[in-house]
Amino acid sequence: MESSFDTQLANNYTSQSQKIRVMTEVWVESFIFCPGCGDQIYNYTNNKPVADFYCKKCSEDFELKSKKGKIGKTVPAGAYSKMIERINSKTKPNFFFMGYSESLSVNDFFVVPKHFFISEIIEKRNPLKKTARRAGWVGSNILFSKIPKAGQIFYVEDGREIDKKEVLDKWQKTVFLKKVTKADAKGWILDIMNCIDAINKKEFILADVYEFESELQKIHPENKHIKDKIRQQLQFLRDRNYLTFTGNGTYQLS
Ligand SMILES: [Zn+2]
Repeated sequence: MESSFDTQLANNYTSQSQKIRVMTEVWVESFIFCPGCGDQIYNYTNNKPVADFYCKKCSEDFELKSKKGKIGKTVPAGAYSKMIERINSKTKPNFFFMGYSESLSVNDFFVVPKHFFISEIIEKRNPLKKTARRAGWVGSNILFSKIPKAGQIFYVEDGREIDKKEVLDKWQKTVFLKKVTKADAKGWILDIMNCIDAINKKEFILADVYEFESELQKIHPENKHIKDKIRQQLQFLRDRNYLTFTGNGTYQLS
């Protein structure tokens, strides 16, 4: 994998955003494979606004969001209402995120599978002021803190290329989420995954997850049985091989 963009491509364009667009898209088409099957991905022609790339074999769609510098905790995601509409639609794409350096080479690149996209990860920004050109327009941010680590699959991390097999394995590990279609059910699974990330230990016990009871209660004020819900989710994750139950009341991330 070559980490630098082909800057020759930019010569045909005058606007900076077009230059970046062509360089980043050609880079992705040259070096990024479909995380679902490992095959090549292709650029959609410009007149197809649904997504930027697709895989012929498994018909997955991908949209690219790139940013100069570190990707950080959030990425702007355009109009809020449009973003919510997209992530609730049947044609919602997977998202690629790219952070590139001043010298035009890729520092970070990861994919977030579409089944991790729920409305809770989209932050609504304040409407633009009356004095702004687009007064009243409401933008949005994608909040990475609300996406479990299992849903941020790196191809390049801090300039280091990740083994292809690792990318493909990590994708397969959470495909079970595709079958969870109810927003509330998915919200609970992702919440528990985030708790497990926050515990940040190789092995943990039920009590570690119970520590989050009041935090989870705030997210789900209508639920009166948070502890039961926690146990239920852990069991679900164990049944999908996301977790292993080691016997002595200890859980491990698989
Ligand atoms: Zn594929």
